[in-house]
Formats: sequence, C-alpha cells, structure tokens
Amino acid sequence: MKLIILDRDGVINHDSDAYIKSLDEWIPIPGSIEAIAALSKAGWTVAVATNQSGIARGYYPLSVLESMHARLRELVAEQGGEVGLIVKCPHGPDDGCECRKPKPGMLRQIGEHYGVALSGIWFVGDSASDLETARAVDCQPVLVKTGKGERTLTKGLPAGTLVFDDLAAVAAQLLT
Ligand SMILES: [Mg+2]
Ligand SMILES: [Zn+2]
Repeated sequence: MKLIILDRDGVINHDSDAYIKSLDEWIPIPGSIEAIAALSKAGWTVAVATNQSGIARGYYPLSVLESMHARLRELVAEQGGEVGLIVKCPHGPDDGCECRKPKPGMLRQIGEHYGVALSGIWFVGDSASDLETARAVDCQPVLVKTGKGERTLTKGLPAGTLVFDDLAAVAAQLLT
C-alpha cells in the first residue's frame, strides 16, 4: 500500500506557540486539505501522528481535539478524499510515555494498524523532533517550511531529509 504519515500542527494547519486550543484556532494551511484529498484520491493512505500535550496541560479537552479532527475529515471528504488513522499523544513531556515524538510510538502504531513496514515511508513534519522520529523507525524524513519549518531549517537537518515548501508541494511531488 502507499502510506504517508503527516504531523498535524504546522503541516496541515497553522501552528501557534500558544497551542491550538479550540476549533476556531484550527485553521488549515492553504492547499493542505486539497493535498490530502488529492493523495487519497490517487490511492495514498494519509495517516496523522500528532503530539497534543495541551491535553495533559489542561489547555483543552479531548473532545475539542476530536472536533478538530472531525473538521479535518469533513473538509477532506468535501474534496472527495479520506483521512486515514489519526494517532495522538495526549501526554506531557514528563509523563514518560512511548508515544510523544521524538519517540516513535505513534509511527509504530500506524505501521501496525495497516500491517506495513515503516522503512522508507515518508513522514512529513515541521520540527526537528519530527525528523528525529522518522529516523528512529527508518522512515524518510520530510520537512515542510510551513509552521516551525523555516526555524527548523536553520538548525541543520538529518542526512537525507527532503525539504518542500508545504504539504501541497509534497503531494505534487508524489503525484507527478
Ligand atoms: Mg508540527
Ligand atoms: Zn504519549
């Protein structure tokens, strides 16, 4: 199967250092919904792995997070596509969980869900921890310049990282 895994904040929707705490704050980056729909319609399964420590910090409840993901699914469906498995880490940095990126637990969960090996699968993110997570399970690290991406670029990237302007450009590359 053709599987691609995306980080959420800064890749699909605009990010904020103050967290995305409500449905109103969840605003898609231009072209991202269309990109997911186009990939889906071309036979790609598009999964999402997102750190959401704002839950552990009490900034927003799980129900609000779920409403954002319902909105994402709805918008992609309007474009004739489908969003695959969305895996979230609701824990804080000190909780010692196995899912919070850069730990690769969420990517493993997605691989197990679909019964595929993660090696070479593209994982698209905007922060250094996303790239590190990809490397931990032999995924192809892909950086987009949206969200924290420009900042991440200045820190030096793991060898072999692919860089694109945004998710639309990633999709365009895979669909050529
Ligand atoms: Mg991000
Ligand atoms: Zn976790």
